[in-house]
Amino acid sequence: MPSTTGPAPWRDAVLAVVGLFLPVSCLGCGARDRAVCPACRADLARRPRRVRLVAGVRLDAAFEYEGLVRTLLLELKLRGRVDVAALLGRPTAELVRRALAASPPGTVVVRVPPSPRGRRRRGFDTVVLLLARGGVRGTRPLRRGRGDADGQKERTAVERVAATVGTLSASRFAGRDVVVVDDVVTTGVTMAEAIRAVRAAGGRVTRCVATASVDS
Ligand SMILES: [Zn+2]
Repeated sequence: MPSTTGPAPWRDAVLAVVGLFLPVSCLGCGARDRAVCPACRADLARRPRRVRLVAGVRLDAAFEYEGLVRTLLLELKLRGRVDVAALLGRPTAELVRRALAASPPGTVVVRVPPSPRGRRRRGFDTVVLLLARGGVRGTRPLRRGRGDADGQKERTAVERVAATVGTLSASRFAGRDVVVVDDVVTTGVTMAEAIRAVRAAGGRVTRCVATASVDS
């Protein structure tokens, strides 16, 4: 993984030179350009933020989970395409900063940890990488307890909720205000479990942030 984080103008120059020798196709439109061409970048920047409620808490998402955003997240998570992380991570980090600005002083940022399988496969924590690209560091992971969210697809909605309760835990949040961050929120079951875990540890979740959310 490159050690650079956040905006780095020289990376654009390096990528442009590399592109001369190793032309790649834009993941959005297929144009022979870098991973995401300028037109598709502009399209991403114009997309509206998403807001929904999870367990009574406001969730701000940088994007709707569809189209190019879904493609980029899958490329990042399944194929290790860390070169697309900044495009998604900067707007996510901006939402974390806004969530902190709207929360009491001393609010801490915690993240939903990757599943053990996802972490092994990727070798990095997607949320940590995304936030680092936007200049946000020092988040604390919730702990994974019994069970695992892997294999949720084969379950019914009720089974998913039942299987997820108790999979995350937290400690030392008594009296603390907390912002919870995850990369993708689909059903909201995992985010609701994160909120439950913080509350069970005595904390108060002021807001949730995600890179992408499925519109409900
Ligand atoms: Zn494009």
